[in-house]
Amino acid sequence: MSYDNLSGRTAVVTGAASGIGEAVAVRLAAEGARVALLARRADRLETVAAKIRAAGGEALAVVADVTDDASVQAAADAVHGALGTVDLVVNNAGVMLPHPVDDGRLDEWQRMIDTNVTGVLRAFTGDLVTVAARGGTADLVNISSIGAHLVFPTYAVYGATKAAVTQLSQALRAEFGPRDVRVTNIEPGLTETELADHIGSDEGRAQVDGMLAAMGSLSAADLADLVGYVTSRPRHVNLSQVVALPTRQA
Ligand code: NDP
Repeated sequence: MSYDNLSGRTAVVTGAASGIGEAVAVRLAAEGARVALLARRADRLETVAAKIRAAGGEALAVVADVTDDASVQAAADAVHGALGTVDLVVNNAGVMLPHPVDDGRLDEWQRMIDTNVTGVLRAFTGDLVTVAARGGTADLVNISSIGAHLVFPTYAVYGATKAAVTQLSQALRAEFGPRDVRVTNIEPGLTETELADHIGSDEGRAQVDGMLAAMGSLSAADLADLVGYVTSRPRHVNLSQVVALPTRQA
């Protein structure tokens, strides 16, 4: 399906160097949006941006660490300078670092909290309110997880960060909805990306491989299609909460 009315939109996608964020950036650009790609790996961002341009789209690669305020502010300045006011933000950057609670990995818990929760960008909310006030369509899309609701051993802090994102999305919707800014919280199930590559233990990796074998997975492109769908609805329609699971995932 094609989402014609995304043409002319100006989007920011965090975590666009790989996985879901990359697919979302590629898809929004293919639908005619101008897209700023944010993540830490410059080489990967440039590769994705080049792919978008080769297909006739418009892309800007901006190195940014969403856990670092100065970095986020510099990225916002770069985006505003090159593309102007943003009307579609996809907060997708995230890390998943499972550990048994009694391992006490405060460093990795903090990294998940800083990336997955604090990293939900505030830099562009002013843009969204401005666009909506002048009659445009404005979207804030947060990528949470079905892990916001499910309980898995070793995933206590990851699940807590995603529960926080889901709650935050509802709170943001209460603040921004009355100002005509749509807020959409997407909770994907198992999706084939690089996310599990950062798991430090063989045991943790085997657990994910077992789930993939048993349940199958969504592709990043499936999630990109969903983001295209929700952001291309008529301005007065806000799909506020979407759970997207592989069919066999309970
Ligand atoms: P990936 O690991 O492929 O993508 C994560 C992206 O986040 C990368 O582009 C990475 O780029 C970026 N990122 C990580 N840390 C930072 C940071 N500090 N600043 C900026 N960018 C950062 O995994 P996914 O595509 O799966 O993950 C995307 C989102 O989807 C995450 O929020 C994840 O929790 C969520 N999700 C994924 C599911 C799955 O099964 N895959 C299921 C449910 C939710 P770089 O390293 O270059 O910064």
